[in-house]
Amino acid sequence: MSSYSLAIHGGAGTILKSEMSPEKEMAYTTALREALDTGESILLKGGSSVDAVIAAVSSLEDCPLFNAGRGSVFNAVGGHEMDASIMDGSNRMAGGVAGISGIKNPIRLARDIMDKSGHVLLIGEGAIAFADAQGFERMPPEYFHDAFRYAQWKEVQGTEAVQLDHTIIDKKFGTVGAVALDQHGHLAAATSTGGMTNKKFGRVGDSPVIGSGTYANDRTCAVSCTGSGEFFLRGVVAYDVSCLMEYKGLSLQAACDEVIHHRLLEIDGDGGLIAVDALGNIALTFNTEGMYRARVKQGQELFVGIYR
Ligand code: ASP
Repeated sequence: MSSYSLAIHGGAGTILKSEMSPEKEMAYTTALREALDTGESILLKGGSSVDAVIAAVSSLEDCPLFNAGRGSVFNAVGGHEMDASIMDGSNRMAGGVAGISGIKNPIRLARDIMDKSGHVLLIGEGAIAFADAQGFERMPPEYFHDAFRYAQWKEVQGTEAVQLDHTIIDKKFGTVGAVALDQHGHLAAATSTGGMTNKKFGRVGDSPVIGSGTYANDRTCAVSCTGSGEFFLRGVVAYDVSCLMEYKGLSLQAACDEVIHHRLLEIDGDGGLIAVDALGNIALTFNTEGMYRARVKQGQELFVGIYR
């Protein structure tokens, strides 16, 4: 039996303590803790890393503070298009969903796509038809309507500007994700997002793309990313971390540092990632001012962080 490890993120970006009220800080910290506890309770009982990352990400999707599920940002036509993906490191099965609306927990749909569709990635109407066939509940548009997100969109509506989440200050990202190693030695990663405010109708980022926003392989690591998706797609970031470990023998932290602090910066990409390796080591790496994040290892005190 291995010791379990779990890490989660709620997005990276220009998150400055000077801009944060104590109440808001407390709300974020509490939400991160709740999501971590939800995932950890599964690992503690010997549950699978896949179940744990799904539970943690669903908890974050239900919290309007984060840009995923309920708190998803508005696209250029005033709607929501959500993306999510999951990968099981034990067999490298994967499922992703892109450009969907009306589904409460896109990550659960991604899991069903992995387990039951015979495909890896479903999009738009076809994904919704699959969700209906699986009995997923549809949520009304009001469920996803958040006054703050609406105001964010109104600021840039009708322009070409595309904003990353919580862009009151400059750039922040609100995507959510989780990575875990369970007691049976299996790794899993999951990521979910509403994308970017005012993104073009039909735009797909890195989050539902296996290898870019999400990757897991029991031989190396599990990774979930957040940041400007176009750069993470071009950098094939999550898989690159795994490759650096597998082909170059880098440690988890060294691989994450190389990708986030060197390769991503070379193409002007900003953001971060969370990762766990087969030994239970955890990396929380970002090249932005902050990243909402939390981690726990079996028998150790949990950590919740926001700023650099
Ligand atoms: N990576 C996400 C996207 O580009 C955004 C984010 O991380 O906030 O859709």
